[in-house]
Amino acid sequence: MTEHVGHVEITEAAMDRLLGRLKGDVLTPDYPGYEEEVLGFNRIARHRPAVIVTALSSADVAAAVSFAGEQGLPVAVQATGHGIAAAAQGGVLISTRRMSAVSVDPVTRTAYAEAGAQWHQVIASAARHGLAPLNGSSPLVGVVGYTLGGGLGPLGRQYGFAADHVTCLEVVTADGNIRKVTRDQHGELFWALRGGKGNFGVVTGLWFALMPVRRLYGGGLYFPGEQAGQVLHAWRQWTPTVPEEMTSSVALLRLPDVPDVPEFLRGRLAAHVRIAFTGTAAQGERLVRPLRDAGTAIDDSVREMPYADVASIHQDPVHPLPYHERNIVLRELGSDAVEKLIRLAGPRSGCGDLMVELRHLGGALSRPPAVPNAVGVRDGAYTLSTLSRPGSPDTVLGPMEPWGDGRRYLNFLAGPDTADATADCYGAQTLARLTRVKTLYDPHNVFRLNHNIAPLA
Ligand SMILES: Cc1cc2nc3c(=O)[nH]c(=O)nc-3n(C[C@H](O)[C@H](O)[C@H](O)COP(=O)(O)OP(=O)(O)OC[C@H]3O[C@@H](n4cnc5c(N)ncnc54)[C@H](O)[C@@H]3O)c2cc1C
Repeated sequence: MTEHVGHVEITEAAMDRLLGRLKGDVLTPDYPGYEEEVLGFNRIARHRPAVIVTALSSADVAAAVSFAGEQGLPVAVQATGHGIAAAAQGGVLISTRRMSAVSVDPVTRTAYAEAGAQWHQVIASAARHGLAPLNGSSPLVGVVGYTLGGGLGPLGRQYGFAADHVTCLEVVTADGNIRKVTRDQHGELFWALRGGKGNFGVVTGLWFALMPVRRLYGGGLYFPGEQAGQVLHAWRQWTPTVPEEMTSSVALLRLPDVPDVPEFLRGRLAAHVRIAFTGTAAQGERLVRPLRDAGTAIDDSVREMPYADVASIHQDPVHPLPYHERNIVLRELGSDAVEKLIRLAGPRSGCGDLMVELRHLGGALSRPPAVPNAVGVRDGAYTLSTLSRPGSPDTVLGPMEPWGDGRRYLNFLAGPDTADATADCYGAQTLARLTRVKTLYDPHNVFRLNHNIAPLA
């Protein structure tokens, strides 16, 4: 017998075979639990797969990929749903959220994270040993999705991208095989996975180095929106002078008037400077002085803090919401660029974006790692990204392109039409090499419901 699952026909025997191979479950659109399972953090789009496999193990992932191959269906992966690019329509969605094991080895200073683990788990486990991972601004983001896309976080200028410190990956490739991938085993795949994201297989587990960081001088300075211009100018003059131990960013926030948002930010424009400094508090205080003097802060939480409190630096949203994330990489940020940005997104601009954010790159982020990888934004000086409501056109990034270096940062692309921007995330040589690896490991583009790199025909 044949079942019609959405618009896809799958024989009952094939479904039974799949179920027989799984420890986890299979959910189809008419099944209770399907709607909840497809919901991710970003509510701008929702996967509508013909079949969801709620994976519990690498073997489950392998069974799901083999099944998709037999049926000629594409595969999507979802851990937290922070980074949805292309909604799965009629394919197989592998939901990894139940595969959430994390372990830390304080002797080798390494961590292991399963496919569905989130950063807060690693941060807490590592902190017990005075160690820190290279997580990003939000502890709710998935370890694997973040790292495969590069991974730009508060320790970035000192230690580089998270992808630079991966030592081993366990991956299910399009042929359904479970492979251990290191610099010495499947070396090209090792290069491509670290920066090329979900294009080459489903990563079931990741091993990576931890950093000897137990504390920071860090936090946020919030200034009223009318002072955005002076704050941005102070920050752009300051960033080229700071040591690599200082990683910072500044965001223009226009947050809604809702109880989730701190009262002093509700329904108004604010400039938020974020600081993460691994030197002493006394050095940090001296360094941050010009920024404190740039205006009259309405809130100042920059202080000596345990690394485990790192989420308090950015204070990213913790409840799901719909957003469209786009970015360009800037090669420089002169006075003229800041003036333009203020006209586009400052207090008198009429800009409606929830957030317009600049992050300072350079330092270790600009150097190739010990084992080279596919991360494509090493030459940039800053990222400029926007978080806007669904359907909002870009009013900021296009006009700022004269200061761009022609690249985009893969992890800061989320929303249905951002998949088209994938090629902009790499230089021509890197893209050509990624395409060759894709052709070798996924010639039929089974993994295409993502920021896709197509194989050669
Ligand atoms: C509030 C917020 C803060 C953020 N902060 C940062 C930051 O500081 N720095 C930064 O670099 N990024 C940041 N990001 C972006 C984030 O890293 C990406 O959205 C990332 O893709 C999220 O991965 P996920 O698994 O949580 O999301 P999901 O939506 O579940 O997955 C996104 C994509 O990742 C890939 N993927 C996930 N799991 C696997 C797997 N097991 N195998 C293969 N591919 C997989 C797939 O292509 C999938 O479509 C942030 C995003 C948000 C919303």
